Amino acid sequence: MSRCQTLALAALLAAGRLGAQAAPPCSQHDRDCPPPRVIDAGPGPKSPVPPPSDAVVLFGGREISQWRSLDGGPVPWRVAKGYFEIVPGSGSIQTARSFGDVQLHLEWSTPFPPEGRDQDRGNSGVVLMGRYEVQILDSWANPTYPDGEAAAVYGQYPPLVDASRPAGEWQTYDIVFRRPRFGSRGELLSPARLTVFHNGVLVQDNVILTGPTGHQRRPPYEAHPDRLPLLLQDHQHAVRFRNIWVRELER
Ligand code: MG
Repeated sequence: MSRCQTLALAALLAAGRLGAQAAPPCSQHDRDCPPPRVIDAGPGPKSPVPPPSDAVVLFGGREISQWRSLDGGPVPWRVAKGYFEIVPGSGSIQTARSFGDVQLHLEWSTPFPPEGRDQDRGNSGVVLMGRYEVQILDSWANPTYPDGEAAAVYGQYPPLVDASRPAGEWQTYDIVFRRPRFGSRGELLSPARLTVFHNGVLVQDNVILTGPTGHQRRPPYEAHPDRLPLLLQDHQHAVRFRNIWVRELER
């Protein structure tokens, strides 16, 4: 982060206007960071929850026409009845449309029976604007570094609690994302913020992102367009998705 960005962030934080948690609680990928308390979120939805009338439906159960490969081609993932599934190694996908501030709902399920451990188990990710990742992982009885478990803002914020369900069960994310704002010279005016409910439980409370998410790095903000595609990450595991919709919060 540049000195200018640091000062801008500090000023905003001092103003006390930007939310509850302003800095990651631990150094990155710290395995000694206290793990989030495990709670029981209750049973998952038996069927997808219908979207509200003003939502943009990104996957309703059949058509994957709202999605593209990263080079703009057809989606290389497997579409089945009511869901689609990552074909491991085929590449991440992104939406044809671009979005800024959004409320996002999606449902996901990691492979059953589970295979692998730590980060090598049911790993994917929901990446807002292609830069800001909410981690997807099979975190059920699967220790890893807290800022890399399910519902973490990857590499920055562990979830407040671990509300995971076992592999093979449908899990929900409800996300409120506020994009960063940049000035005309590319300077950071306000950082990105995320609120996340995992299986209906608050796990990220309006946290302030340090910049784009990354593995073994916390890169600084760089100015980017106000709207960019939403990305789903191929991390070599056959994670499934269904019932994905967004409500645009700026028009
Ligand atoms: Mg991931």
